[in-house]
Amino acid sequence: MSTSTFYPQAFIRGAIVPIEQATVPVMTNSLHYGAGIFAGIKAYQLDGKVGVFRLDDHIKRMADSCKVLRFTYDFDTKAVKKAILDLVAANKPTGKTYIRPLIYRSDLDISPGIAGEYDLAIYMLDMPEYMSADKGQEVCISSWQRNPDNSLPPRTKATGGYLNSSLAMYDAKQAGYDSAILLDSAGNVGEGAVMNLFMVKNGTLITPALDSDILEGITRRTVVEMAHELSIPVVERTVSRTELYTADELFFCGTAVEIAWCKSVDKVIVSEACGPVTAKLRESWQALPQKHPELYASAS
Ligand code: PMP
Repeated sequence: MSTSTFYPQAFIRGAIVPIEQATVPVMTNSLHYGAGIFAGIKAYQLDGKVGVFRLDDHIKRMADSCKVLRFTYDFDTKAVKKAILDLVAANKPTGKTYIRPLIYRSDLDISPGIAGEYDLAIYMLDMPEYMSADKGQEVCISSWQRNPDNSLPPRTKATGGYLNSSLAMYDAKQAGYDSAILLDSAGNVGEGAVMNLFMVKNGTLITPALDSDILEGITRRTVVEMAHELSIPVVERTVSRTELYTADELFFCGTAVEIAWCKSVDKVIVSEACGPVTAKLRESWQALPQKHPELYASAS
């Protein structure tokens, strides 16, 4: 990702403040033990208004993450939504924007543990393009395994869990790849380093099922819904590593990346250009605000 431009206002300790004041002491418990969860939400410019994509779904996933991880945070869905929309309104973004809410253990207790004080912080940054849509991603299978459900549940967006994605990404970049795919604890395909994954085989869209140690991606769900509307058959099932090599098309999806096609896996060419099914889904994605305006929350 290129250097970020942060918006001037942030939310912390219950108030909107200049971003320079959105800081925490070095003793903050979550800095040391990873007791935090976050969301990555995209806002778009739609006819001069700001539309926040699937905000309720992101907030629900934040609440679920707190629940699974037993955080002693009194999650108030309405208050979290209001804080996000108020911050968007205060910052008045003019382009594609990424919103980063974080619920973190904010007390200064030196001991690891999940019972403590929690706070909601939110900041925003410009995100015009995360991965080039024109360039096919050249990816590898990581030697790092996706953290399994009974270790550090991948269905939560736990801050500490992202070291897993970071290790995979680091190795991939060191080896000259654009990105990595992680296998699950059973050795089957999980997901991209911070993205879900789909392949196309004989006209059918196939994606690893929710029991493959993946994040329940909101873009993933949107892709499945768009495919249904386009009458493209979709199967969610276990995917073996070598099926990726013989796929007709392969693409990543996620809030930041949106839909990005993959050219090769482990240097085995999957497709030399963005395939027709991926291209159709990308078109539907572009047309989504017109077709499904209800998916975009407005901040005024
Ligand atoms: N997997 C992981 C590990 C992620 O961090 C992300 C980004 N949130 C995704 C998949 C894609 O999820 P979403 O479409 O909800 O952004």
